[in-house]
Amino acid sequence: MSLKDRRLVRPATLVALLVAAWALPYGLGGYAIHVVDIALVFALLAIGMGLAMGIAGQINLAQIAFFGVGAYTTAILTTHNGLGFWPAAALAVVAAALIGLLVAIPALRMQSHYLGIVTLGLALGFINWTTNAGLAGGADGISAIPVPPMFGVDLSSEYLYYYLEVVVFAAALAFGLFVVRTSLGRRMRAMRDDPLAAGAIGAEIPLLRMTAFLLSSLYGGVAGVLYAGLIRFVAPDTFNIANMFLLLAMVVIGGRQSLVGCVIGAAGLSLVREQLVDYPTYAQLGFGVVVVLMVVFAPTGLAGIPARVRGVLERRRGSSERAALRPFQPYEAAERAGEEDGPPMLEVREVSKHFRGLRALKDVSLTVNPGEIRGIVGPNGSGKTTLFNVVSGFYRASGGRIALAGRTVSGVRPYRLSLLGLARTFQNLRLFADLTVKDNVLVALDRTRAHAIWRYVLWPVAIWRQEHRLNHQADALLARFGLTEFAGAPPGSLPYGIQRRIEIARAMAGSPRLLLLDEPAAGLNGEEVRQLAEIVRSIRDSGVTVVLIEHNMGLVMSLCERVTVLAGGTVIAEGTPAEVAGDAAVIEAYLGDSAMADLPLPEVTQ
Ligand code: ADP
Ligand code: MG
Repeated sequence: MSLKDRRLVRPATLVALLVAAWALPYGLGGYAIHVVDIALVFALLAIGMGLAMGIAGQINLAQIAFFGVGAYTTAILTTHNGLGFWPAAALAVVAAALIGLLVAIPALRMQSHYLGIVTLGLALGFINWTTNAGLAGGADGISAIPVPPMFGVDLSSEYLYYYLEVVVFAAALAFGLFVVRTSLGRRMRAMRDDPLAAGAIGAEIPLLRMTAFLLSSLYGGVAGVLYAGLIRFVAPDTFNIANMFLLLAMVVIGGRQSLVGCVIGAAGLSLVREQLVDYPTYAQLGFGVVVVLMVVFAPTGLAGIPARVRGVLERRRGSSERAALRPFQPYEAAERAGEEDGPPMLEVREVSKHFRGLRALKDVSLTVNPGEIRGIVGPNGSGKTTLFNVVSGFYRASGGRIALAGRTVSGVRPYRLSLLGLARTFQNLRLFADLTVKDNVLVALDRTRAHAIWRYVLWPVAIWRQEHRLNHQADALLARFGLTEFAGAPPGSLPYGIQRRIEIARAMAGSPRLLLLDEPAAGLNGEEVRQLAEIVRSIRDSGVTVVLIEHNMGLVMSLCERVTVLAGGTVIAEGTPAEVAGDAAVIEAYLGDSAMADLPLPEVTQ
């Protein structure tokens, strides 16, 4: 298929879908259209759930409660308070969103299965409320919800109601896809893959979690309103745990990481459920079994199968045509005037870090001047990585003070440090596994703050423009690091040396002032180490201060002006590479054996 043909496929598919959606009711009987109308409500719910669970990685078993809040608020406001349908609908969506934010509060502090329990608790609480509260009508529910008025169109007809639903559904799906494919969605996906690494490159994790639940509850609220207008009757039965698990099954089977997958799952299971309506117990059991099988054998669901097949085929085709890592194109050297007069780029003053009984850092002090490449060496377990973790805000120091370019930053969160100009890499590589290489870089390039999400609703054009700009920057950055060929690949499929380089590119994407590299040469071959030295030097020449933890002494010797030696959590020596290499305490710490003292610092392999 030529490129031009491919470009025509999308609009053609869209037109075909629109025509099919328009024509569908003509071929359906009264009951069938009812099933389709309900399926559309579930599809909306599934999109919301997919956004929280699949995209943002936040377990959300409260979706059925968001749905219920939307439906019940509409019912109560129209029947008890005499509000018109649409004003009630607007308030219902707001109510669902508020409940969504309420659920998000525990999500700020806890993760995974705990979050599952909390959200499930909320769903159960809601079910309890509907069955017991007088306002909710108890087990009888609330009937006589008015037909939504719509410019004289009779929406009591389930055929005509279908068109209302299709319009809302299309808009909701388009908005969801827009979110997923742009700045906010990319960050949420990064948070799902590795919240620590995402925080280290500027993603405001707590706010992102809240946003995920907010989005989820908005979709739940809208689905609730549509349901109330369709059935015009609400009762506790609709919002029970069985339906919550049906929804979960839809999302897992369809493919939670893909909104289209969620829709397919919702549509598919809605139809299957109709077929099995006379065997509810077996149906539940069947859904359960299928969900378990999916989780084990196809965790990305039906929607993930094409990508998996493609992955297998590509691996079969083999490494023979593996693209080569292109040479790095050096940065332009920056002027280095006046740096000496300013404050140190990094100042660590008597910092300690205790893990229960273990004192990983004891009164560590060091000062790194702007434009320096500082080496940090020391035997395994001497506290080097812990020092980075404290400096980059992952751990709170047990004592001491840290300043970045003269500004005290002790106890500041990683994302704020990233915005202040700190970037780091990780000893054990923390790339976002389910994002492409380009997306990995894009997350870090994107410096918009979470509160700018209002633009998604009020001014999406700004988001488009920003995407365009970021894309150019990402292409340029990948080209600089010789990674253009791998832009579309998942990082896990690439050789180790390339992954290390992607991590440096990602760290540089945030335009840092201070770059912390934790064993960047680990696992690299000789040629790759040589290229790494060139990259680090160019980064420094561009005006970035570099602190480098490294076991490869050749690299440390050739790159660093000064070296700080840690052993047992304290600084035992500091000086030029030659000075520390001759230091008796250093040799002692490394070898514990003076017989080998005539060697320069030995290479210790991990
Ligand atoms: P290095 O990077 O120099 O090899 P680390 O900083 O990783 O050493 O570890 C220093 C010491 O702190 C080790 O004894 C390690 O077991 C301990 N340590 C590091 N992180 C933690 C943690 N999160 N909890 C408990 N102990 C830790
Ligand atoms: Mg380490």
